[in-house]
Amino acid sequence: MAAVGEWHCEKRPFDKSESFANNNENVPDTGCLSIIVLGASGDLAKKKTFPALFNLYRQGFLQLNDVHIFGYARTKISDDDLRDRIKGYLPNGNDVTEDVKNFLLLIKYVSGSYDAPEGFQALDQAISEHEFSKNSIEGSSRRLFYLALPPSVYPPVCRMIKSHCMNKSDLGGWTRIVVEKPFGRDLESAEELSSQIGELFEEPQIYRIDHYLGKELVQNLLVLRFANRLFLPLWNRDNIANVQIVFREDFGTDGRGGYFDQYGIIRDIIQNHLLQVLCLVAMEKPVSLKPEHIRDEKVKVLQSVLPIKDEEVVLGQYEGYKDDPTVPDNSNTPTFATAILHIHNERWEGVPFILKAGKALNSRKAEIRVQFKEVKQPGLEMSTAQSELDLSYRQRYQGVVIPEAYERLILDTIKGDQQHFVRRDELKAAWEIFTPLLHRIDKGEFKSLPYKPGSRGPAEADQLLEKVGYVQT
Ligand code: NDP
Repeated sequence: MAAVGEWHCEKRPFDKSESFANNNENVPDTGCLSIIVLGASGDLAKKKTFPALFNLYRQGFLQLNDVHIFGYARTKISDDDLRDRIKGYLPNGNDVTEDVKNFLLLIKYVSGSYDAPEGFQALDQAISEHEFSKNSIEGSSRRLFYLALPPSVYPPVCRMIKSHCMNKSDLGGWTRIVVEKPFGRDLESAEELSSQIGELFEEPQIYRIDHYLGKELVQNLLVLRFANRLFLPLWNRDNIANVQIVFREDFGTDGRGGYFDQYGIIRDIIQNHLLQVLCLVAMEKPVSLKPEHIRDEKVKVLQSVLPIKDEEVVLGQYEGYKDDPTVPDNSNTPTFATAILHIHNERWEGVPFILKAGKALNSRKAEIRVQFKEVKQPGLEMSTAQSELDLSYRQRYQGVVIPEAYERLILDTIKGDQQHFVRRDELKAAWEIFTPLLHRIDKGEFKSLPYKPGSRGPAEADQLLEKVGYVQT
């Protein structure tokens, strides 16, 4: 593969420090930091959020003297109960090393409801006590609220934070909130949620996590594209035949069928994660690496996507999915989907972008396949061939510690870098693409075809790929 070199921008050279630039120049990066995990009793908190915080702590990104972590939820448990719940999910947590012990001591738990002031007032008091104990000038502290909660409670929780838990002074510091997908079920519900949160917080305070954007390979896509003289001139319709963005799992819904059934594979994977990757693959070179410039270009890609045609979609549901007692017997929810997207602009006119995701397939993989138009084979004859350029990440960087997406994204939130978070207009444009199709699936007008678990998905999906010019390699 070609070496990744400097990003040569026409307007200005690549400055690596920019990617970590604070999008609010006046916000200090130091001072007392309180990280508040709301929904601390839940699955995401124990499996992802707290372990990510531990890894940041272990790597020295969270300073013992400055940081405190608060868990908040309705469940009535003690600080130690919460620590015990988390321990088993930390790397070597059951060994209780010095690192684990010190980290767990940073965590305090406050119990309260999500829609009444008392709990949030108690939370505010606990945060303030920590801030004063650290001799932080009131107001120069930083408060990061991580909503590891079902989206139905985002609006009341945001109202409570706004009323009771904001950073108290305008001397400096900040209050930021991190929210998890799903951001709505369709365009209308997403816009409603955005408006409710938007009335309380400014866009630079809201960090919508798409954890795909925290993945190392995804983070490197822009560098790969724009800092690389091999790819730069080739990245267009003249040279590229098709692009395929794939997510495959070799297991089914594993007892979480009831939860999955409310969403389906398009809402769970394609409308967010795969579409974000599509943006990074297809966007034009941003004016600079500033988060807003990058997000501006992503929005333009989404707005250039043409309406999806019925004949360019294949939906599937694996046999046995409905055996899960929590899944309705008449469920039409797709566990597999292939959809062809077309981007109506000069660079990509006529190039199919194939988005494909599925559960219970024959392999587990996340990959981007860019198929170039045929090139001449070595030798004197004029025959052409497809050849592969493989950038498989784990194989290429064996032995290198690849940071977890959540660690990176939490660190970005602390630094105020919104590049890898979804902006409101981006979210809207993404829902605009898929909402008509989703509504038809919800109404049962677009049927999911059965496929065998452990297969490649419905045969019709491979036929569709062939039709749009994908060459099986
Ligand atoms: P949980 O169902 O475990 O909920 C988290 C906590 O929220 C619970 O412990 C509970 O705390 C509280 N809660 C649950 N249901 C309700 C309700 N109906 N009303 C009020 N409070 C409720 O969710 P997860 O931790 O799995 O996920 C949290 C968020 O993150 C969700 O939006 C999810 O979609 C998203 N997400 C989750 C992932 C995962 O791996 N789990 C991956 C990606 C996104 P208590 O009762 O103590 O108040």
